[in-house]
Amino acid sequence: MRTYVTVAIPYVNAAPHLGYAYELVQADVYARARRLAGDEVRFLGGTDDYSLKNVLAAEAAGVATRDFVDFHASQFEALAGPLNLSFDDFIRTSADPRHAPAVERLWRACAARGDLYRRLYEGDYCIGCERFYATEELIDCRCPEHRRPVDHVAEENWFFRLSNYEGHLERLIASGELEVRPEPFREEVLAFVRGGLEDISVSRSTRRARGWGLAVPGDETQVIYVWFDALANYISALGFGDPESPDYRTWWKDSDRRVHVIGKGILRFHAVYWPAFLASAGEPGPTSIQVHPYLTVAGEKLSKSAGRSVDPRGLVADFGTDALRWWFARDVTPVADTDFTIARLVERANEDLANGLGNATNRIVTLVHRHRGGVVPAVKNDLDDEVPCLELDVLESITAFDLRRAVRLVTDAVAALNRDLEVTKPWQLAKCEGADRLKRAELDGLLARFISRVRAIGRAVEPIVPGLSARVLAQVGDRERLPAPTPVFAKIETA
Ligand SMILES: [Zn+2]
Repeated sequence: MRTYVTVAIPYVNAAPHLGYAYELVQADVYARARRLAGDEVRFLGGTDDYSLKNVLAAEAAGVATRDFVDFHASQFEALAGPLNLSFDDFIRTSADPRHAPAVERLWRACAARGDLYRRLYEGDYCIGCERFYATEELIDCRCPEHRRPVDHVAEENWFFRLSNYEGHLERLIASGELEVRPEPFREEVLAFVRGGLEDISVSRSTRRARGWGLAVPGDETQVIYVWFDALANYISALGFGDPESPDYRTWWKDSDRRVHVIGKGILRFHAVYWPAFLASAGEPGPTSIQVHPYLTVAGEKLSKSAGRSVDPRGLVADFGTDALRWWFARDVTPVADTDFTIARLVERANEDLANGLGNATNRIVTLVHRHRGGVVPAVKNDLDDEVPCLELDVLESITAFDLRRAVRLVTDAVAALNRDLEVTKPWQLAKCEGADRLKRAELDGLLARFISRVRAIGRAVEPIVPGLSARVLAQVGDRERLPAPTPVFAKIETA
């Protein structure tokens, strides 16, 4: 199988917040799991530089847009380190030479199909969302996402004939050819399509965009609307601008899975507009759109613009990458918003990683050192055939984006291991084995079994907590003699 997985590219008007870090980690867990399952995988991240919000934030900060965008985009790109992300590629739409030719090619293909036309447009525009709203979608004349006033805009724009693709999109989504998960989001988008699709504006005046953005091919008075531009990043990073691009063929056209991981606020752009643009251009659409809800703090949505932000880098500095990744996988629910607290992050890490997996690993390695000089007894046991199932089950859960089930499989395996230790009491057996060959063989068998189970758990957690996985496997790796017991996860102490 060949899998291409992407995250949404954020606009870079401020530092990254925790909700976006969740999206990155969720996609990274998926990418790592598919690699372990034997897929060829390409994992793309990036930044949406051409957003009008970037221009306004730069103006407010009194900095040139280019400098402002470069600075903030670099902060997003630098998240890969602290979050331990396995990106294969990263695209910055304003700085990457692959981007503009791809957007232009997509535009020209839609135009050649007859799907682009110019007309006067008037409507209510939220600059936070960078989209127009119908009057009935507004709440008290305000944007439903941002709860702030919208701008009334009247100008000539280029339009895309989205109405031509109503039947096509309904078929795609209803048949599952385009998978939208979890189910409530699929229902939401299907209802939207069935409610009737109107043509959408895909450009704006160069003046209103303050000259920031890609010009409409053949019309210098207009720049391409930021969503048409931004969505194209998924294929511009594959060299779509060049009709001969081998990467585009490999990772898009001939790929088995083309997966977009996104937040619920931008579902319509990904499940409706984007597949329609691609269909218009005669190109295949994504195969799967995985939607996540928001993180909240004290019940309020995390948002860069609302100034309510939890810095993921700060959490990593305080509690470590694995604690944060584990909390994301363990506690974030698939459909409803999840409230973040530091107390819960610390509690989960201490309970599952320090006391659970960490403690079990340490006890077992210590036993092997105390009673067998650190050498794992070479005994074949029936559990050896059973343990690979854990890794397969975990990979399968992650492939279905059920990260919480994957975590439960791991914590269940650790609990079973601890129970087994308590029931078999190898330390008592060790006390009285003496020269008794049967008892020696029994203890050999137990220790071999425990070690192979720790190995299995260590391998199974790799997509979720790669750092911890590496430390567990370093303790019980495939070498005959184990290194001295070293804690793999230190309990987090909070004041
Ligand atoms: Zn808005």
